[in-house]
Amino acid sequence: MKTAITLEELRSARAMLPEPVGFVPTMGYLHAGHISLVERARQECTSVVVSIFVNPTQFGPHEDFAKYPRDLPRDFAQLQAAGVDLVWTPTPEIMYPPDFQTWVIVERLTAPLEGAHRPGHFRGVTTVVAKLFNAVQPQKAYFGQKDAQQAAVIRQMTRDLNYPIEIVVCPTVREADGVAMSSRNTYLNPEERRAATVLFRALNAAKFAYEQGEREAETLRRIMREVIESEPLARLQYVSCADFETLEELEWVEGKALLSMAVFIGQTRLIDNLILE
Ligand code: AMP
Repeated sequence: MKTAITLEELRSARAMLPEPVGFVPTMGYLHAGHISLVERARQECTSVVVSIFVNPTQFGPHEDFAKYPRDLPRDFAQLQAAGVDLVWTPTPEIMYPPDFQTWVIVERLTAPLEGAHRPGHFRGVTTVVAKLFNAVQPQKAYFGQKDAQQAAVIRQMTRDLNYPIEIVVCPTVREADGVAMSSRNTYLNPEERRAATVLFRALNAAKFAYEQGEREAETLRRIMREVIESEPLARLQYVSCADFETLEELEWVEGKALLSMAVFIGQTRLIDNLILE
């Protein structure tokens, strides 16, 4: 497994890789969710590139950038075992030199949900992913359904900017009790970790009602709210039952829909979602 830090190192290592190249962008502190993306890329591509970069511009001023968990030696061992060809770990100075002033902004799709509660978040995400795409020049790039709006926004950006890259979205990997794997789960104490199961329980309660024939979106949102409110350690930020393509809130579920939510468990903000089809 090759490693690169500077753009020059990345470009010369990338030039040696046989194509198609599959690319998995991450912020590190890797878990089985990340590795599932690497494995899918390994199956579909001749070479696999992973980036690890905790991107400062996608964190709000009061968010967890400084305390975001980091463990490069452990990440490298996992990526080596998964058969990755090249790992790129750029520094903030490489990605954002002092005179940096160019941003990539996706408009409508970033307005609701995460975009409404994390101003500037998607501007940071799309800008860094565009820069990563420009440097790595993959044929395919892999993202997790765990971050449903991010996947939709990246797909839109890829279309709008004519990147010749296929975006592959992979299923959410969960712990045995249903909690979606996330680097942020390490913030939870044991009591909070037990309470974190409430997100998946709420999503499943709404999905069950949908499977029983419920089609009124507000009823599905109410079911999710009630489950979240039954957990004393949980504080709901939003619940949504939205059109899968536009991410606009629905009145009635007809086509493919996305159930999603953001919930604080103590100080830790968790997100999760399920697709209705
Ligand atoms: P992150 O390191 O959190 O920025 O995530 C890097 C990539 O891994 C993103 O495309 C995420 O959507 C994806 N990812 C994170 N957690 C999971 C999970 N539990 N299952 C599947 N993909 C995930």
